[in-house]
Amino acid sequence: MIIVGAGIVGASFAYHAYQNGVDKITVLSSHLPGDRNQATSNTWGWVNGYASNDKSYAIFRLANLNYWQKLINYIPNLNYTSKGAFIWDQEEKELQQTIRQHQSWRQSVKISTKSELKKHLPYLINIPPIACFGADDLAIDGVKATRELFKTSGSKIIETNVKEIVCENNNVIGVKTDDEIINDDEVIITAGLGAPKLLSTINIPYEMNSSLGLLVYTKPLPPLLKYPITGFDFHARQDDKGRLIIGGKFDDDSSKEENIYDTAEKLIQDMSTRLNYNGDMILDHFTLGKRPLPVDGRPKIGRLVNQKGEKLNGIYLAVMHSGITNAPLAGKLGIDEVLTGKRNNLIRDFSPQKIVTQEEFQNV
Ligand SMILES: Cc1cc2nc3c(=O)[nH]c(=O)nc-3n(C[C@H](O)[C@H](O)[C@H](O)COP(=O)(O)OP(=O)(O)OC[C@H]3O[C@@H](n4cnc5c(N)ncnc54)[C@H](O)[C@@H]3O)c2cc1C
Repeated sequence: MIIVGAGIVGASFAYHAYQNGVDKITVLSSHLPGDRNQATSNTWGWVNGYASNDKSYAIFRLANLNYWQKLINYIPNLNYTSKGAFIWDQEEKELQQTIRQHQSWRQSVKISTKSELKKHLPYLINIPPIACFGADDLAIDGVKATRELFKTSGSKIIETNVKEIVCENNNVIGVKTDDEIINDDEVIITAGLGAPKLLSTINIPYEMNSSLGLLVYTKPLPPLLKYPITGFDFHARQDDKGRLIIGGKFDDDSSKEENIYDTAEKLIQDMSTRLNYNGDMILDHFTLGKRPLPVDGRPKIGRLVNQKGEKLNGIYLAVMHSGITNAPLAGKLGIDEVLTGKRNNLIRDFSPQKIVTQEEFQNV
């Protein structure tokens, strides 16, 4: 089996392939975990179940949240840096509605009152009147988790660019890299934003969007935030090295920022006015990552058809935003489908070439 792309999604496919007895797994990737050209290296790492007005996606995210816990219990060096998160990035009424909707989908979310917030976030200066508390939300270091999954999978990882997918009569026979042709009858594409270019080599037009996300890391600080927090125009969490990882408005696009260094400094200055800490908050470094965004926002996982609608054998695609949240089950259920041909109901609505409009989302 060939896997193209060594981000967290590729790692999950490799891990689950190995768990299912696939003994020869070759991972080909132009960038490796930790490289700044990967989305996985630039992530905030919040694992959560939120998908307002999209029940199908919220259920998938929740299942991932539960499955992450199982993986963490099972894989010795895999862990989370925090559990639980507070969110107040909506007006009170809207936030209450979001909480009710996600509770009806069995998520462990509840309203946190001001006094509870004071208790759990003692360094926060401006306490909002209410917040949503996601009890099972996790923060995961994307690079560490990716490396651990690969390590456990025993796969062979080759740093190389894949130029072409090679197909004969709708059957995949391998890939062409910059250096060689590697033959295999199963190619899994977990190439994030590299997927459209790869698919174009077998005449499949595939559109994806992207936006640029800025995250700022401070030098290590004493414990200030036990839980990740997301307000209207900021999000922040503290990692296991004590660094605050700070972003602006969630999912904001920084591609038009004229002076990214000034913006990074401002994120830190603003954060220092939000937390009651007398020492200096110093910029360590910042990351800029492109989010791999399927056009309708939902993950895309499954087999592909050509422009005539004919099935292509031996090619499987998995691309998504929120990949830190979604990778575990994308990999587990994706590998099940590759090996057995059976598609699990949890991914039923995420076929790669199906684009769903907002109105079509199951709104409950
Ligand atoms: C700023 C930011 C914040 C985020 N925050 C969160 C969050 O809080 N929670 C969450 O769940 N998600 C978050 N995400 C999204 C998440 O990080 C991504 O969805 C996830 O990392 C995607 O993983 P991936 O493996 O699909 O892609 P990538 O990590 O990009 O890996 C794709 C790999 O494919 C390789 N590749 C591409 N083309 C080729 C080719 N032709 N040949 C060989 N190799 C190729 C690349 O080199 C790369 O290594 C965030 C993303 C960003 C940028």
